[in-house]
Amino acid sequence: MIVTKTLAREIVHGRKTEARIPIRTSPDGVVRPCPYRPSPPNSPPRTYTVQTRTGGPEIARIEVLSNARARLADLTYPDVRAEGFRTTAAFADAWMTTHDAAWPPRQTCARCDGDGNVDCADCWTTTPTGPYRAHPLDAHPCPLCDGTGETLAPIDDDLVLARFTDRHHDQRVWIVRFRLLDAPRLLASDSSHGYTTRARDALPDEPEAVDDATLEHFARDAAERRAGEPGRRAEHARRLMRANQERTKRLLAADPAAVLALEEARAARLAAIEQHADDGRNAA
Ligand SMILES: [Zn+2]
Ligand SMILES: [Zn+2]
Repeated sequence: MIVTKTLAREIVHGRKTEARIPIRTSPDGVVRPCPYRPSPPNSPPRTYTVQTRTGGPEIARIEVLSNARARLADLTYPDVRAEGFRTTAAFADAWMTTHDAAWPPRQTCARCDGDGNVDCADCWTTTPTGPYRAHPLDAHPCPLCDGTGETLAPIDDDLVLARFTDRHHDQRVWIVRFRLLDAPRLLASDSSHGYTTRARDALPDEPEAVDDATLEHFARDAAERRAGEPGRRAEHARRLMRANQERTKRLLAADPAAVLALEEARAARLAAIEQHADDGRNAA
């Protein structure tokens, strides 16, 4: 079972005991078997490894207790907790990040206006015949969007839940209930005992003495995105303004007439950026 680093930690702590998996059907409508099955009776337990990526280290080992069919619309808050999430919106966000190609929503980058490239302060030079480009159009990939022209759009719980209800409630899923068999070595709460393999003996906030170094970072969670995005955008807007002021000063010294043309272009660009910022706010 491949899960995020955060959910791997919830499994190791015994707080995530369920996983919902889309039910797949063959082209002629036959339901494909659930990939996770309980142990057959009177035989050694069938176990599954928990990893954060295919081929990654084993974080834990689980045994499946049951797999039942349901719809995502049936999800209750206790289900959300058993899935290892604190809120239904957090579950919905994670579900859509995995199963919805249009999620998370993106918007045109406010720094480069979707172009993917930005001008440095020296991109334009002025001569008696007018301003001309000194650097190629793609000399500076946009630092805010890494040259993609898009950034993550602001989201909130209402937006997350609205899309989840609208697009995913009818999704039929397997509810896989499982129990934790082996946790990796955990730092024991009484350090004289060194390491423990029992999650409940481990320090509450020190779940993986071994695994933290090997677990990979996953997509930032929604809360971090919500907190970080407006701040970054404001910082880039400030940088853009400073760069523009510097450029204007230099040009004014070199050729006052050329400044007028550039000022017009700049005003149009700022208006476009402000429009995008407004769009972003309205979307939120
Ligand atoms: Zn950009
Ligand atoms: Zn440049």
